[in-house]
Amino acid sequence: MSDIRANDPTSAIRDAVARIENHLIAVRRDIHAHPELGFEEVRTAGVVASELARLGIPYQTGIGKTGVVGLIEGGRPGKVLAIRADMDALPIQETSDLPFASTLPGLMHACGHDIHTTTLLGVAAVLKQMAPQLAGTVKLVFQPAEEGLGGMQAMIDDGLMTGPDIDMGLGFHNHPEMPVGTFGYTRGPGLAASDRFDIVVRGKSGHAAYPHTAIDPLVAAAMLVVQLQTVVTREVRPIHPAVVTVGAIQGGTTHNIIPDSCLIKGTVRTLHAQARDVAEAAIKRLAAGMLEGMRVQCDINYRRGTPCLLNDDRVLDPSVAAVRAQFGDGSISAFDPSLGGEDFALMAERVPSFQLKVGSGRPGRADKLHNSAYQPDEACIGLGVQALSRAALTLLAG
Ligand SMILES: [Zn+2]
Ligand SMILES: [Zn+2]
Repeated sequence: MSDIRANDPTSAIRDAVARIENHLIAVRRDIHAHPELGFEEVRTAGVVASELARLGIPYQTGIGKTGVVGLIEGGRPGKVLAIRADMDALPIQETSDLPFASTLPGLMHACGHDIHTTTLLGVAAVLKQMAPQLAGTVKLVFQPAEEGLGGMQAMIDDGLMTGPDIDMGLGFHNHPEMPVGTFGYTRGPGLAASDRFDIVVRGKSGHAAYPHTAIDPLVAAAMLVVQLQTVVTREVRPIHPAVVTVGAIQGGTTHNIIPDSCLIKGTVRTLHAQARDVAEAAIKRLAAGMLEGMRVQCDINYRRGTPCLLNDDRVLDPSVAAVRAQFGDGSISAFDPSLGGEDFALMAERVPSFQLKVGSGRPGRADKLHNSAYQPDEACIGLGVQALSRAALTLLAG
């Protein structure tokens, strides 16, 4: 690398990406054709390992079962920046007729984690080349099982945050509702704490014609589902976004039997710790109150899942500035938070972190994530590599 290039990271990064973009697209198509569910990313982890080996980047496999961690040492000492991509696919039958469509029935990269894995491999290639300019270390985190299976927790349990200790986290996700070439950020809470509950409503079975001899758990469950709607409207502060959704009610067998019990399953999404506590307490109280009002015993199993993803200005501001420096002022804009969840939040809970939104929308399409016909614009890979590499260069400027 010449001095001229070192002084002009914009074109140095752009040129470096231009040289590898075709290769990255080929890698992405290979991963796309061979999707793997969470903790089963054996082939994908193998592709990652062989690419890192080819780049001369030391790595460890088996972190969090199928996770891979690579290390790039900078030319000078400094902080340790983790950049994280997720690798898992979804149990969805792909309906696209692309030549590189999923070869496995019922499995598809419908959340674009094939894009993420490939983008981080591109970042690895660029930053390895620019390592002499980095003050610090980049930890490349290829995470398994993001889709609700606890991949980040598994990596943390296997020592991800230490050796060397991570100081800052940088995550990213593709967004088909944003045109390719655009980027986004959310200041503060960006994605929701995601909790789950199961409530078994216990009554007493009997003949449908003699309800007075039974205790009907179905009527009680119906009332409880309606009462749960008051958690958000009457108990959580109106300025704190929250969602309580009942996604399943299971009970009964046929027309003329009052069953013994009924199961209610739901999710609670919040952006603020106070709202999270209020919602949990209210749901437990309403469930307990069914005994007095409806004579049913409600056994509740309430489980806290991933916390809210809190974007930290100390990582967000330099990253947003880096994207502007690479692509111009209009390339990145602010977005409202979403009540979706993401286990990168577990890293953000431990060290200052930021998750970048990478536009992946293809002109003329109106794609959504988790959709069987999802076709991200593959230009988002090279653009994502540029954005994240520039952010890393900025965060590890020393
Ligand atoms: Zn997803
Ligand atoms: Zn995803």
